[in-house]
Amino acid sequence: MAEAAAKQECYAGVDLGGTKILTGIFGPNLDCLGRAKVSTKAERGPEEVIERIARCVRDAVDECDLDLKQIKAVGIGAPGTVDAETGRILFAPNLRWEDIALKKILEKQLGVPVFVENDCNAAMLGIYETELSGKPREVVGIFLGTGIGGGIILDGKLYSGYSGTAGEIGHMVIEVGGPKCSCGSRGCFEALASRTAIFRRLSEAVADGKKTMLTELLGPDLKDLRSGDLRKAIKKGDKLVEQIIEEAAEYTGIAVANIINIINPQVVVLGGGVIDALGDEMMAIILETAQDYGMSGATKGVDIVASKRGDDAGIVGGAVLARRQSK
Ligand SMILES: [Zn+2]
Repeated sequence: MAEAAAKQECYAGVDLGGTKILTGIFGPNLDCLGRAKVSTKAERGPEEVIERIARCVRDAVDECDLDLKQIKAVGIGAPGTVDAETGRILFAPNLRWEDIALKKILEKQLGVPVFVENDCNAAMLGIYETELSGKPREVVGIFLGTGIGGGIILDGKLYSGYSGTAGEIGHMVIEVGGPKCSCGSRGCFEALASRTAIFRRLSEAVADGKKTMLTELLGPDLKDLRSGDLRKAIKKGDKLVEQIIEEAAEYTGIAVANIINIINPQVVVLGGGVIDALGDEMMAIILETAQDYGMSGATKGVDIVASKRGDDAGIVGGAVLARRQSK
């Protein structure tokens, strides 16, 4: 191994999801040197999933012709409640994990320091460090995917709250008596504007006899529906899909207004699979609704933007976490 390369500080960023594990290897300036992907296989239990994370990191390192010794630290964004101090996953329902010592086990397997954060917090860090110019002091990130999560930066630092669970923006109730949420409550933002909620509303409308071109494409049960299909349907003039996406965007605008009223950040950044696929259709409505519902003094001058990081926010965030923690 060349000595120059051996001295280089590289970081591994891992995005641990319910179905796939992504790893990116990043140089000191957070330039991506290479990446790897494996399926999670959560049903095989935590021990095997952690071995698969280790394999994914090794694959990514190998992909860039590096050696594990050149990796200064590994940062992981993990779903669910995370104790970032100890690197334990306290509760991750979509992995079926309860109190798993991810940091400790993975450090033993890789021989490299490992740091763990909630996946939305990690994505927030990644966007903050690589996408937001001028380094605003107060930023809130909202990520619309299968669920809805958030990350809060206060005074330039990730805000995790009293017991580490801050930023659960998806569980802010915005419709009293609204649809049931995965958390057990009703009318949460997540139950109204996540991909799961959008798909449910569309299925219910189809069951009620409403027409969409998507049933011709995917069948009456809308099997294998993806966010990209919704965008294509809107572009082709599908009124039902357009209406449901407009409603989701309005709920998102209301959530943004609530956050701005409470935190008064300089920037609100929206990301996640729904925004990646439907940002063009949703952002104007989100902005308008946030202005309508927010207090005028609070919303003045606040930037509400869509992240361009897409799927990469998680791995970049993991690398930022690794770099921040290992300094
Ligand atoms: Zn909820």
